[in-house]
Amino acid sequence: MNEIKSAKSVFSGKSRFLQLVFVDIDGMAKGMEVPIERYEDVVKEGISFDGSSIPGFQGIEDSDLTFKADPDTYVEVPWEEVAKVFGYIYKNREPYYADPRRILKSVTEDLQKEGITAYIGVEPEFYLFEKNGSWELKLPDGGGYFDLLGLDKAREIKRAIAHYMPSFKLIPEVLHHEVGPGQHEIGFRFADALTTADNIVRFKYLVKAVAESYGLYATFMPKPLFGQPGNGMHFHISLWNDGKNIFVGDNGVSEEALYFIGGILEHAKALTAITNPTVNSYKRLVPGYEAPVYISWGYANRSALVRIPAYKGNSARIEYRAPDPSTNPYFAFATVLKAGMDGIRRQIEPSAHVEENVYELDDKARALLGVETLPSTLAVALEALKKDKVVKEALGKAYHNFIKYKTKEWEAYQEYLERKGIPMDSMEVTEWELERYFYV
Ligand code: GLU
Ligand code: MG
Ligand code: MG
Repeated sequence: MNEIKSAKSVFSGKSRFLQLVFVDIDGMAKGMEVPIERYEDVVKEGISFDGSSIPGFQGIEDSDLTFKADPDTYVEVPWEEVAKVFGYIYKNREPYYADPRRILKSVTEDLQKEGITAYIGVEPEFYLFEKNGSWELKLPDGGGYFDLLGLDKAREIKRAIAHYMPSFKLIPEVLHHEVGPGQHEIGFRFADALTTADNIVRFKYLVKAVAESYGLYATFMPKPLFGQPGNGMHFHISLWNDGKNIFVGDNGVSEEALYFIGGILEHAKALTAITNPTVNSYKRLVPGYEAPVYISWGYANRSALVRIPAYKGNSARIEYRAPDPSTNPYFAFATVLKAGMDGIRRQIEPSAHVEENVYELDDKARALLGVETLPSTLAVALEALKKDKVVKEALGKAYHNFIKYKTKEWEAYQEYLERKGIPMDSMEVTEWELERYFYV
């Protein structure tokens, strides 16, 4: 994989610069650009940079890092003279422990040792806004779920995004209006976990760039508007062994799939800190908007945390509905896969099987079914993470960076609420959140 592709097969001759992309602890794309002539250097030797100001990386005392490109991820931006490549980060020639891409890579390598490849597809949702120079967000259309009418611009934007997707190694599958006014979803083809994590980073860039060229802002913020549906990013997961999907069962899904669900439910509270890592994420996880609130699973049931979609042939999979697009996809896949594998290893039978609308059950009925509640704030989720060995271990030493970084984020929000006299349990979307998360 690491051999340098011949210049002929890689370069179109159009790109004059190469953007070296990695993500920080928040999953935000970061990087630098070098003249394309340095491509070989970047693959072979790597390029050093100062990591001290990258959120969640090193402190200043020890900040020399090296970026080495992964040539398999090379793409060219069609409308600029720039190509993009992902890579891995090194410190003193050793893999750098807080590099999110490396963390997911080691989890997938562990799975490989057992002959398993995880495939993941996602359903990223986003809103298109007109901004007013302030945080008064004007909605560009009044459409709803599956509406074909509504603002022409939005349809055009979705098609333009789909049109450019192949240049970014993304295969568009479905484009549709979501439930919220100005809310949309574009699905792209599933792939192995690492590729899909890369794809999410590329997809978010593409959506924002195309929206901007139409004078609009795309946001993946989990809950940009109080009283409207939030942006989810459901994960569809299957495990394959020897070219066979091991989630396929004779009668529905296999035992492995059920154990995998058992693992996710057992670790759900800690996982939420990773898959829903912002203050704003918890304003999405409320009843009434097709976002999960309770730790349960079911088949057709869209109020459940984990769902088994109806499938044909080889496409058996589980759908995990908590994640939102503010998650760092590398951390999210690493931890969710570890949690599911723990379920398989320990043969954890999933409890809390519910086919009714879980929001409508009363507390007693939920208690009888063994249905627990997801963390209601980032602080609650972080406490659960601190107690969960499996999820912690999936992040390695970066776990400490994560806790430290996210605790600060929570405290900053608390200070803001206090300063503004806003009640601590307010579910309103604050300016602090819009400022901090609009561009996630
Ligand atoms: N927007 C919903 C969420 O917050 C999901 C809607 C759907 O099922 O696609 O997860
Ligand atoms: Mg959707
Ligand atoms: Mg879904």
